[in-house]
Amino acid sequence: MKEYRHIFFDLDNTLWDFESNSRDMLLELFEKHDLQKLGIPSFEFFHEKYVERNIMMWEQYRHNKIDKETLRGKRFEFTFWDMGLDPELVPAGLSHDYSMAGPKRSKLFPHAKETLQYLSAKYKLHILSNGFEEVQHVKLQSSGIHHFFENIITSDKAGYKKPDLKIFEHALKAASAQLSEVIMIGDGLEVDIAGARDAGWDTVFFNPLKLQHEQKATYEINGLEELKKIL
Ligand SMILES: [Mg+2]
Repeated sequence: MKEYRHIFFDLDNTLWDFESNSRDMLLELFEKHDLQKLGIPSFEFFHEKYVERNIMMWEQYRHNKIDKETLRGKRFEFTFWDMGLDPELVPAGLSHDYSMAGPKRSKLFPHAKETLQYLSAKYKLHILSNGFEEVQHVKLQSSGIHHFFENIITSDKAGYKKPDLKIFEHALKAASAQLSEVIMIGDGLEVDIAGARDAGWDTVFFNPLKLQHEQKATYEINGLEELKKIL
């Protein structure tokens, strides 16, 4: 068995409950900007279309087909287009409100804090995220877990995105860690698990929805509290 010294966590949908935080934020903005008046039948419809478009644009961003500004600035325009509405109807300030206030949401997955508390006594903890540099720091601060992490590595700042081998090499160097000492915990089968495994790291697949899959991870958990049994 390997002697782990460094634990790298993905952030979105691993510690920070992205889906729930994003939904709450969108509901608040749906009401604030009175989007129903513009011809959107319901919040559920808006939310479904936004999520579809956001996932699509993040994939395009990950494959370097669009840049950060396009992703952040145009996702509501495209969502309006997808709903059959004129993109010019997107209220001024909607995108800005979402980008500014969204990361201040603080919902974490159950047992996140106590598990980090436990792990931080035994290991050095780090974040390895494909998110935006300034945004991820805000999420960590507002959810009260920033202080647990020695290094916060974002692809945005590193210049490479998971699953690129180079970002895992970059992370090892930043933490002054050896391959035999590291383990990656994340919810992304391709970016976190296959990416880290291909770089020679051990992995923990965080699978709260108990999805069926074919990827090989060193460990698999359905809740963060299970990390205490492994590490
Ligand atoms: Mg994730």
